[in-house]
Amino acid sequence: MNHVSNRSSNSPTVDERHLMFDDLEKLGRILVETGDIAHSFVQGADDMDVTCRDFSAFDPSRPLQGQGRGTLDALRAAKEEILPLLAASIGPRYLGFVTGGTTPAALAGDWLASAIDQNATGPEGSVNAAVEEQVINWLCDLGGVPSDRFDGVLTTGATVSNLLGLVAARQWCGEQVGVNVDADGAGVLPDLEVFAASPHASMIKDLSITGIGRNNFTKVATKPGSEETDIADLKAKISASDARAKIVIASAGTVNATDFDDLEAIADLCAAYGAWLHVDAAFGFFAALDDRRADFTKGIARADSITSDGHKWLNVPYDCGIFLTRHISVLETCCRAFAPYLDTKADGNSYINRGVENSRRFRALPLWMTMVAYGRDGGASVIRANCDQAADLAAWVRTHEKLELLSEPKLNVTMFAARGSDEDNRALLARINATGKVFMTPTVYGGRFGFRAAFSNWRTCDDDLVIIKQAIESAL
Ligand SMILES: *Cc1c(COP(=O)(O)O)cnc(C)c1O
Repeated sequence: MNHVSNRSSNSPTVDERHLMFDDLEKLGRILVETGDIAHSFVQGADDMDVTCRDFSAFDPSRPLQGQGRGTLDALRAAKEEILPLLAASIGPRYLGFVTGGTTPAALAGDWLASAIDQNATGPEGSVNAAVEEQVINWLCDLGGVPSDRFDGVLTTGATVSNLLGLVAARQWCGEQVGVNVDADGAGVLPDLEVFAASPHASMIKDLSITGIGRNNFTKVATKPGSEETDIADLKAKISASDARAKIVIASAGTVNATDFDDLEAIADLCAAYGAWLHVDAAFGFFAALDDRRADFTKGIARADSITSDGHKWLNVPYDCGIFLTRHISVLETCCRAFAPYLDTKADGNSYINRGVENSRRFRALPLWMTMVAYGRDGGASVIRANCDQAADLAAWVRTHEKLELLSEPKLNVTMFAARGSDEDNRALLARINATGKVFMTPTVYGGRFGFRAAFSNWRTCDDDLVIIKQAIESAL
């Protein structure tokens, strides 16, 4: 290859792009080697320690070299220096947070998305926006909301989807009383009241980002021993409010007890008192796919906006969030990015005008791939299997003399603790995770320290439950 000829040794600006042109010639081999490395990592995730406990061998302060090494050499370095120090979060026994793995089809779609590297802004000269539109229709279908009434956008995650919910809600509230928050700022809406019973930590963060304020929401009571909104308390608070602008944040699947709000009742109150209803359904949205739990999200189609995630229970690689709304034009008012150089005339949705980012990854492709490859039934099977696993672990905990359940699992999360002090339980969780066989994250529920086992990976099987129970037993 002779694309680059000014390589004289005394030139201060040697053109090192020859490394890239050389790599382009070798791209086939590079992709095969990458595939091999990825393949053994993904397969090996069953057997490796679920988390890495010592990555001190990696030195973040090592300076960048002037001279590059080419991709094959960099790949070898990644294989030696980085891959052995990773968590097997893609594997079947990573039960921390709500962490989805990656289906083979979603992985293939994600790689392809990188290879073709579309900037998924809108319909100009590429089908990518139409694919996103199709995927959003399919997502509506999975969650049981009508795609002719809901439209949306793919985001980086539920945190940003919740942010879009607040932004659109505030704009809509302004429109109800004849002010324009988008144009004139939040100051034109001084009497906004946000009601929430069990807002996710990301929602609290979003209250800060939007300038509403972390502490500036009305805490609604939960039902006793639950994270579910107490409807009577919401009714009392919303009816007593003299705010002209009201937003209700409801939950479909809370992170601890996986509780679902009575969305029909909340939608009735929102209709009666002129409030926007936002439903955070980051993973609970897909409960609708399990016929035994199909009524958990009953009423969700009456929401004004809905948050969900692709990178949790749909098992699509990071990052992939979902935002749906019945008021897409309100969202577009707030998120439109106008400049003469962005003004195109192509037909179709401009996703650049529906979210935070101007430049966007082609996130629709991995979703499209996994939905085409496994269909609605494949998605439903993952949901059912994970719910059964949470129930199985709970049944074991219930009969174990040293353990107790912190709440009955309704979905895919089992919360439990050992009899004894919070201190003892903290140490026990560290010992369980140190076995390398399973990873769980802590929580505090009903004033007690406990462990959360969140089943959200398509690969988790009965054998894994046996290993998980053994690991807990050995640490006890
Ligand atoms: C995980 C989660 C979020 C935040 O989602 P990210 O994708 O991590 O941004 C919000 N709400 C709920 C209920 C969640 O479970």
